[in-house]
Amino acid sequence: MDSPGLGTVRSEVIEHMKSREIPFFRNTAGATLCTLGIGGPLELLCVPNSLHQVTAALEISVEHCLSTRILGGGSNVLIPDEGLPGLTIQLGKAFAGFCLLGPVGADYGRSDTIKDCLHNGTCAPLKQLQAELQGIRASMGEGTEVEILVPGSTPLMSLSRQTVLAGFSGLEFAAGIPASLGGAIRMNAGAHGGQMSDVVTEVFSVSAEHGLRQFSTETLGFAYRQCSLPAEELVLASVLRLKADDVEVIKQRRTSCLSYRKKTQPLSLPSAGSVFRNPVQAPTGSGDEVPTAAELLDRLGVKSWVLGGVRFSEMHANWIVRTAEVAKASDVRELIKRAQAEAESAYDVRLQSEILLW
Ligand SMILES: Cc1cc2nc3c(=O)[nH]c(=O)nc-3n(C[C@H](O)[C@H](O)[C@H](O)COP(=O)(O)OP(=O)(O)OC[C@H]3O[C@@H](n4cnc5c(N)ncnc54)[C@H](O)[C@@H]3O)c2cc1C
Repeated sequence: MDSPGLGTVRSEVIEHMKSREIPFFRNTAGATLCTLGIGGPLELLCVPNSLHQVTAALEISVEHCLSTRILGGGSNVLIPDEGLPGLTIQLGKAFAGFCLLGPVGADYGRSDTIKDCLHNGTCAPLKQLQAELQGIRASMGEGTEVEILVPGSTPLMSLSRQTVLAGFSGLEFAAGIPASLGGAIRMNAGAHGGQMSDVVTEVFSVSAEHGLRQFSTETLGFAYRQCSLPAEELVLASVLRLKADDVEVIKQRRTSCLSYRKKTQPLSLPSAGSVFRNPVQAPTGSGDEVPTAAELLDRLGVKSWVLGGVRFSEMHANWIVRTAEVAKASDVRELIKRAQAEAESAYDVRLQSEILLW
């Protein structure tokens, strides 16, 4: 979707946005929209709250050849100091919540419910999910599988909490991942042996070229922290499948995930989570053992590397944290580049950034 920025068409684009009634903001500080809290202004941020507005924004993007980004929770991106030209689309609050589709296999007008939710925004507030799931659990018992339709800007951590407290298994792993549902699907977010592809059965996405489309999990090419959904597709919502299980066991699993994070990750400082993907090859001269990125970085001594307002965490070598009120994206990039260069020269291992460097 990369192409020229707004430049000379600025006023035309603005008029077009207004005439299509798409909520937008100009020059929003990027630092306020990502977990690292770093980054310059977004030239034009639009926050659609209906399918109609999403489609219109994507059409305007194509019509005016705008450089366009889709932003979720901003927990895996580095926004440059000079900001983002063109259009950034972030789904609005109307795309947070859920629509309970019911037990798997029951005849409950599934496709009409999905259509209604996607076209008319009829999803319920997330805080009601726990009670609704508990109702199903009480009437149908353990082992029951349910499907829920979850819109793209729904916070994954709250979704995990609500489902687990209701005694439904599947999202325990997601307890500490500060993602939106859309970003979690795009990245196939995962931890503690679980990942989004374990629970996703269908994805509904929109693009200017194809409009609203439906993808089944099998066609999405889910792999380690990625999927093959075309870059221009915006994830509008997804169907997740969860299973009623022993409540105490599920709660305990979620609690263990959270306490492991607290013990091992620098959660008190702003970050974008793990910086590098784990290597797939063993370093030169170390036999068959493939270290994690954190182990390799620790051996390089990155825990003492500081640049401006950012540094590699002293607690976890594969995390870069912001330690000052204001910090530069260029310093984050520099730390990443240095680590890659040293890993390559010392171990012949090419570390690949997991954070998306926009
Ligand atoms: C404290 C912390 C802990 C973390 N722990 C983990 C972890 O355990 N496991 C893990 O996998 N990740 C982890 N992360 C990284 C991050 O949370 C995940 O990569 C997450 O999936 C990103 O989701 P997001 O909504 O924030 O997406 P963003 O960071 O906003 O965007 C990421 C990508 O998704 C795309 N995108 C976002 N929304 C949509 C949409 N609606 N449609 C289409 N594309 C979209 C963006 O264009 C971009 O390409 C952690 C991050 C932090 C800060």
